[in-house]
Amino acid sequence: MDYRSHFRARIDGLKEEGRYRVFAELARQAGRFPRATRYRPDGSTHEVIVWCSNDYLGMGQNPVVLEAMRRAIDEVGAGAGGTRNISGTNHYHVLLERELADLHDKEAGLLFTSGYNANEAALSTLCRLMPGVIVFSDALNHASMIEGILHSKQEKRIFRHNDVAHLRELLEAEDGDAPKIIAFESVYSMEGDIAPLAEILDLAEEFGALTYLDEVHAVGLYGQNGAGIAEREGLMDRVDIINGTLGKAFGVGGGYVTGPEVMLDAIRSFAPGFIFSTSLSPVVAAGALASVRHVRAHNELRVRHQERAQRLKTLFRDSGIPVMPSESHIVPVMVGDPRCVKEGSDALLEDYGIYVQPINFPTVPKGTERMRFTPSPLHTDEMLRDLAAALNDLWSKLHLERAA
Ligand SMILES: *Cc1c(COP(=O)(O)O)cnc(C)c1O
Repeated sequence: MDYRSHFRARIDGLKEEGRYRVFAELARQAGRFPRATRYRPDGSTHEVIVWCSNDYLGMGQNPVVLEAMRRAIDEVGAGAGGTRNISGTNHYHVLLERELADLHDKEAGLLFTSGYNANEAALSTLCRLMPGVIVFSDALNHASMIEGILHSKQEKRIFRHNDVAHLRELLEAEDGDAPKIIAFESVYSMEGDIAPLAEILDLAEEFGALTYLDEVHAVGLYGQNGAGIAEREGLMDRVDIINGTLGKAFGVGGGYVTGPEVMLDAIRSFAPGFIFSTSLSPVVAAGALASVRHVRAHNELRVRHQERAQRLKTLFRDSGIPVMPSESHIVPVMVGDPRCVKEGSDALLEDYGIYVQPINFPTVPKGTERMRFTPSPLHTDEMLRDLAAALNDLWSKLHLERAA
């Protein structure tokens, strides 16, 4: 077999479909977020405004976080030095796990090197340890949950996105005594919509199911302490396991689950992805700890964040840009074609210094390609107006469809 041409052909297939991914090479500028320097393929540079960062609050450059990381690197050095079991449990890991458990009002917390790893390891392990379990999974769940469920090799049922009636139907069709887990997200990051949390929890109680909630796009951003949508709705105590990331609103990196001590002990003890991997750098853990504490105490960041998102949605609507019906801080704009979305975002980057990554399959279904804007508290009125004007131009130039 000619291995190289085999893989070349697979890549060429992506290019023909218009969904070959090209990464923008950026240098973020600490203290100047959302500004960044972009490196063109020819090595020349220009300044851009970043409009698609998941560092939702700019915590990745917050002086409190940077100072905590500097202090930690001087105290404990760079890396963890091992897995959690073999010399890799640093004091900062323990402090951070306690802080996260407290944030979500749970018995315990468990850290991972990413939110992806946390979902994959937690779901695959919990399910594997319950032979005969049936997993009920929202159709738009993140790849990390889907992989975790697949790796458990247990039965799964997929309910239509946020469709409580369909979830009920699927639950009713199964043996009442079978163990069950409902796995879902609170804020769906590509639509910006929010799960009907109370109704799903009611069903879980009625049918005796465990609940596993991914709050990755909500931690730091919703609720009085930034614990997420479950906190905002006063429902934290009814969710069994909450997953979050330290890499998005908390601006650093790493992921976690919080929940009942015994379940986290089982994940800690049985998940290969946790056991056999060097733990998070203690410097990262120290930065995340400072970030969580800061974000908890500063609700005004959340207020300003929501205000910016609302304002951008209004500006877009005023010029007929087709904003999707998002109820959250995420501002997705439908384009509906992989080539148009790529051409549009390339033009924004080169001609307007606006960086928004095109979102295409498999992140979203084919035919729903979109641009996804994430305004932060640090995006100014002027930046918002410039963005709306640029999109207005672009929609005319590319003859894209406008909202009624
Ligand atoms: C980004 C994301 C994750 C993974 O978190 P990382 O810390 O980036 O690995 C998990 N779930 C959802 C819904 C996400 O969007």
